[in-house]
Amino acid sequence: MNLGVGVIGTGAIGEDHIRRITDVITGAEVVALSDINAEHAKKVAATYGAKFYATSEEVIKAPEVDAIVIASWDPTHAQYVIASINAGKFVLCEKPLATSAEDCKKIVEAEIAGKKQLVQVGFMRRFDRGYKQLKSVIDNGKIGQPLMLHCVHRNRVSGPKHTTEMNINNSVIHEIDVLRWLLGEEYKTAQVLVPKSSRLAKNGLRDPQIVLLETQSGVRIDVESFVNCQYGYDVQCEIVGETGTVRLPDPANVVVRSQGVRFYEIFPDWSDRFIEAYDTEFQHWVDAVKQGLVKGPTAWDGYVACITADACTEAREKGTIVPITVPECPPFYQ
Ligand code: NAP
Repeated sequence: MNLGVGVIGTGAIGEDHIRRITDVITGAEVVALSDINAEHAKKVAATYGAKFYATSEEVIKAPEVDAIVIASWDPTHAQYVIASINAGKFVLCEKPLATSAEDCKKIVEAEIAGKKQLVQVGFMRRFDRGYKQLKSVIDNGKIGQPLMLHCVHRNRVSGPKHTTEMNINNSVIHEIDVLRWLLGEEYKTAQVLVPKSSRLAKNGLRDPQIVLLETQSGVRIDVESFVNCQYGYDVQCEIVGETGTVRLPDPANVVVRSQGVRFYEIFPDWSDRFIEAYDTEFQHWVDAVKQGLVKGPTAWDGYVACITADACTEAREKGTIVPITVPECPPFYQ
């Protein structure tokens, strides 16, 4: 029997996930949805044969809904995740789990109080073929111990609601999670450098930014965050180890030879760049939920990522190196 999924937020990624659940993966169907933009949500509901609800709370409570996907605006995530936990329903929440570590802590406490893991965070890079290959190279000792990581996270242009904080807590949060997963250790300190801002970054946005992280064992990481790079969506990661290096592959694309130039296109945004990762993530989530389990990134992972993002924000505002203190992981999440 198909898992009945309720989707909160039918914007860019919400609608893409609805298409994915309907047309790409197996074992689930979108039965209910809501969005503050009711007009568009009703159209999406009609296209995919789901029931439109006026509020997200109604979607969470709806009897036909077995599990929830949250793809609404970042500041709404925490309240809907907690409502899903209180309803005893599995929930896949798009990143970030919340916009502050404090709100993530409330989610973790609610989940522990409910005595059942229900929450998965949408850190889909853990399901990306390239990142999985990086992990395999590290874990098999092919480059010795990692020493330095050089990463780039560029978006073509930022949206009207984008803020200076979001370069980190909405964008670099992907690197914060996936690099922690790759290295298998926690961070120790954060520093953020703010170079000259691009004239194309609107509304006083400080863009680009350079995030410098140090792990407990002393691995040094630099992440360039540039959300108005103009030319496309570009994610890079190179790991330098004791005996070699390993680099994230660019996504496969056709090579065009034309007018004296040989080139391949760079994807415009995340939806094509990580399409296979999202598909794998969703199939994996549905299969696990049907077994009554959470097997992907947990609320604890979402919490640790937000602790780190908050430290980066503090580091940028103060212009200093800020220590990152991660509490001991409770047995519930081990
Ligand atoms: P979006 O296109 O702006 O869509 C967000 C939708 O949520 C909009 O339709 C918005 O309506 C709606 N919304 C706002 N407040 C709401 C509320 N209280 N209840 C229900 N719906 C509400 O943004 P998006 O790009 O799809 O991003 C959505 C989420 O996915 C964000 O948290 C983002 O961080 C995450 N995301 C993750 C990835 C990834 O790689 N994993 C990629 C993209 C986005 P209005 O437009 O009327 O405000």
